[in-house]
Amino acid sequence: MADNQSVLSVSIVTPDGRVYEGDSDLLVVKTTIGELGIMPNHVPLIASLEVDETRVKLGDHEDEIAVNGGFIEFSDNVATIVADSAERQDDIDVDRAQSARQRAEETIKKAQESHDPDTLARAEVALRRAINRINVANH
Ligand code: ATP
Repeated sequence: MADNQSVLSVSIVTPDGRVYEGDSDLLVVKTTIGELGIMPNHVPLIASLEVDETRVKLGDHEDEIAVNGGFIEFSDNVATIVADSAERQDDIDVDRAQSARQRAEETIKKAQESHDPDTLARAEVALRRAINRINVANH
């Protein structure tokens, strides 16, 4: 691809299919080692992602997507995010996320009482997904 392009293209895919596709002049993701802003012509990279929001900016416009883990690969001004699940802001069912949050909090409490680390770890991740969805939907 030619150098000095002013945009990069972003695609977010999950096992359910493509959740997002768009152009960006600043892509902001949360990697496991911190927040990362990617502008056009950034050096190639691959990084693991946290359960967090991904922000796709283009001029004054910004799309927010709840990305639930996975990884990002960037090269030749193409960013591909592969995640177990991801939802665009408008597609988030807030009531469902609130119920998932409540369920996860109850499971965490019980797992702490019964000293069940596997259940605790799963519930903590489920809680992070629910909170991420609620935060993205409320922005
Ligand atoms: P739940 O307990 O509500 O099913 P979950 O975190 O276990 O939540 P996932 O396994 O991450 O759900 O996702 C299963 C599918 O449901 C994915 O396609 C995901 O995008 C979708 N999904 C999950 N929660 C929501 C939500 N609150 N709004 C919209 N889509 C959702």
